[in-house]
Amino acid sequence: MKHQNVTVIGSGTMGNGIAHAFAQSGRHVQLVDVKQDFLDRALTTIGKNLDRQHKKGLLKEEPGAILARVTLATDPEVAAKSTIAVEAIPENRDLKKDLFRKLDRVMPAGAILATNTSSISITEIAAVTKRPDAVIGMHFMNPVPVMKLVEIIRGHDTSDSVTAETVDLSRDLGKIPIEVSDYPGFVSNRVLMPLINEAAFCLMEGVAKKEAIDEIMKLGMGHPMGPLTLADFIGLDVCLSIMQVLVDGFGDQRYRPCPLLKRLVAAGHLGRKTNRGFYLYDAEGKAS
Ligand code: NAD
Repeated sequence: MKHQNVTVIGSGTMGNGIAHAFAQSGRHVQLVDVKQDFLDRALTTIGKNLDRQHKKGLLKEEPGAILARVTLATDPEVAAKSTIAVEAIPENRDLKKDLFRKLDRVMPAGAILATNTSSISITEIAAVTKRPDAVIGMHFMNPVPVMKLVEIIRGHDTSDSVTAETVDLSRDLGKIPIEVSDYPGFVSNRVLMPLINEAAFCLMEGVAKKEAIDEIMKLGMGHPMGPLTLADFIGLDVCLSIMQVLVDGFGDQRYRPCPLLKRLVAAGHLGRKTNRGFYLYDAEGKAS
């Protein structure tokens, strides 16, 4: 099996799911975060998610055997033993660039440096390393153990061989990789975020009530979730920052963030994570 030893950096929402997927595929995973507490919490989450899959008969092994392949660390230097690292730390350019400089220093020649960024340019991250040919976007979807897509983003200098290897590896995880090139928002967020933004404009302009906007997109377009409900799930701050990347990256006002979206973020109403966004959420998570 190729890439037996994988390092995943960041053990939050995405990182623990990515570690889960690699461990499930039979690989040994070094999961890295800044605090042991965060790592312990991530391991508990992976354990619970594996148990759920086990109960549904989706695993080929006992959950404990898969979990035993995940090792925890607070120092990214553990990546020295891996042939691929997947970064899933917060969506912050400087933080990611610092980490990629460090990974470039410690990782063996020929190793792949992948990022799960939702919107930051792969080319820009790659440029801080001495191996831009080996830097690639591996954009998993949330929740990682369930969602099949991995958007594979080639930076300006990403090599054909690194792209082919990352595609093969994604398939080996049971995912469906789709290759795109490095433009703002890639494809997933360039198409999704303007849809959400336009739904926010409809609400702001009083075209329809929030429930009506969501129902129209569900019933009319077959979407499993309405755009305003989805925005609350993703986080309104995340949606706003991606719209900002689109408007800055293309210099085109058609991507201007909706003032209502900006106002909700300014008020601290970020969606489910603050119990209030486009909707209000009660203690059981029920929306009104
Ligand atoms: P998160 O906040 O849940 O987790 C980030 C983790 O990184 C935290 O546990 C944090 O302690 C850790 N961290 C911070 N700095 C670190 C460092 N220097 N070294 C090691 N660990 C560090 O974030 P998330 O939602 O998992 O997002 C991670 C990345 O994935 C972001 O780039 C985001 O844009 C992208 N992404 C998120 C989603 C999503 O739905 N949440 C989907 C696709 C892609």
